[in-house]
Amino acid sequence: SPAPSKSLLSTPHEALAKHFGFSGFLDGQESVISEIVSGKDGLVVMPTGGGKSLCYQIPALCFSGVTLVISPLIALMKDQVDALVARGISATMINSTLSWAEQRERLDDMRAGKWKLVYVAPERFRAESFLNAIRGVEVSLFAVDEAHCLSQWGHDFRPDYLRLGKALEKIGSPQCVALTATATPVVREDIRSVLKLRNPFERVSGFSRPNLALSITGVDKASHKDERIKSIVAAHRTGIIYCATRKKVDSVSETLASWGIKCIAYHGGMSDQERDRAQEIFIQRKVDIAVATNAFGMGIDRPDVRFVIHYEIPGSVEAYYQEAGRAGRDGEAAVCEMLFNYADTRTQEFFIEGANPTAATIRSIYQYLLNEADREYEVHRTLDEIASGADVKNPMSVGSGLTVLARSGYIQRFDVPGKRTRGTRLLKPEVLTSQLQLDESSIEEKDRRDREKLKAMVEMCYSRVCRQQWILTYFGENGGKPCGNCDVCREEGSDEIRPPTTEEALIVRKALSGVARMSRRTANGWEARFGRGRIVQMLAGSRSQEILSAKLDELSTYGILKEKGAGYLNALMRSLHDARLVITINGDYPLLTLTDEGEQVMRGKKSFSMNWPDTDAGPKPDSL
Ligand code: ADP
Ligand code: ZN
Repeated sequence: SPAPSKSLLSTPHEALAKHFGFSGFLDGQESVISEIVSGKDGLVVMPTGGGKSLCYQIPALCFSGVTLVISPLIALMKDQVDALVARGISATMINSTLSWAEQRERLDDMRAGKWKLVYVAPERFRAESFLNAIRGVEVSLFAVDEAHCLSQWGHDFRPDYLRLGKALEKIGSPQCVALTATATPVVREDIRSVLKLRNPFERVSGFSRPNLALSITGVDKASHKDERIKSIVAAHRTGIIYCATRKKVDSVSETLASWGIKCIAYHGGMSDQERDRAQEIFIQRKVDIAVATNAFGMGIDRPDVRFVIHYEIPGSVEAYYQEAGRAGRDGEAAVCEMLFNYADTRTQEFFIEGANPTAATIRSIYQYLLNEADREYEVHRTLDEIASGADVKNPMSVGSGLTVLARSGYIQRFDVPGKRTRGTRLLKPEVLTSQLQLDESSIEEKDRRDREKLKAMVEMCYSRVCRQQWILTYFGENGGKPCGNCDVCREEGSDEIRPPTTEEALIVRKALSGVARMSRRTANGWEARFGRGRIVQMLAGSRSQEILSAKLDELSTYGILKEKGAGYLNALMRSLHDARLVITINGDYPLLTLTDEGEQVMRGKKSFSMNWPDTDAGPKPDSL
């Protein structure tokens, strides 16, 4: 559909000059802004600190009506509004911290055309009265910040964001722009469809962070982790140490304290006031080190963070890069180091299990609530009490189980005045005892995707491709040249991604043919039958029991790369994997087969580039 033409009060450059002291636009901003002022819907993917806010603030100043900005965090919202007001821009916010009277007044002012920008918390759209109040207002632009919150596959799903699609329709489908720092294709697709973006422009830009020295260090002992922390802290002073669990936050901050190093601790188990205070202390530079779970960070605007340490592997590349990306926002050099121990992936698997409870677990929780309910159908139990009462192994699945039950209308959760535990009310319990139907397939689907994301994160740890290139490729931005700054690039003798010589191309095609012989071709593509180890044995012409008893020595590809040796072939398989020519299928045991691209390369129909292994590459854990 053609873009509606809007009359502009000023040009973007005029608005920039009048209200912002900036000398010009940052990379990516100008083209996004000109698309928006031309009236188009859009999807803007820029990393944290990339300057997304200006992308809707400038158009807001150019348009005659009001721009509604949907933003999930009240603290963040307040900072933004304060900054705008300080620049002489009429902006305000509407959220739950305001009384009804205040909200009403601001809505009235909005109708009277007083505001250029109004920041709105997503849960406001629950109220029909709020939507009615907006109807009739000239909304020039609807800007959805942190738009990944509407994807169930994103790391920060917020159910209120799902309502935005309907809300948009109800207020007359104004021009809509979504902004996020999460670039994975699935999330982008979700954003486009939930918000029903009309022929949107789309920009993924600015993910490369050349000032960050990314590295992943394999460590097998906790004491080695502490040694690394000690030297990084001594060298870089200001930074964040991310830990996977609250317990680890406590123990790491105690370790720092024992060294006489001041830090704040931050995790979800602290009260809101404690957390706010800790965050303030860090932002105001009274203390320069934060030890925190991933609850810390959204909205932290401390640009001089010089290091980010991941004490354990995070659950996804998205989470990793977002957290690592909090370093060096001032553009100066910063280091990001992940302390990788494969055993820590178990913690992440535990989180995934907790976040995606099985139907049996949910039923068991529900049965427990039924037994415990009083005459008002109310239950007052802590999550731990429910976990042990309902005999749930993973205590985290109680919280998510209750969320599922609440979302499907079986229970209601409510705050108990003066208490931190929430109460649960059963809704029509006698009807529900018979049949409890849950959206099992969607939980399973999410579980599967969460596991895939973790797998990608683990693959990155073992990969010997430039970290920066690996991440950009993962996010769908052109990978460009090796960064020269990460551990892989710095490692001596490391190769860059390049096309093969004629001889190398032949080796790759032979190896892929071997993979094909050891897979099954089905109507749906390639089906894996063997793991990497067995395929390497076959290619190397091994006469092991496993090879002979499976008659793999009778394959035409048996021993076809014998002269290369098993060490090289293992590394080659890993490189083929990084280049996405082969893929691992995880069942009880990881199996390997061809990708479509791998098949084309095998048939000589497609050219390719990859990171070439050293000829003397040694063995690595077979866990991939
Ligand atoms: P994001 O929302 O993408 O995380 P912000 O919009 O908060 O990023 O911008 C990040 C920082 O860059 C802010 O401190 C902002 O003031 C600054 N900034 C944005 N645009 C410009 C510009 N054109 N020139 C200079 N600084 C800018
Ligand atoms: Zn690199």
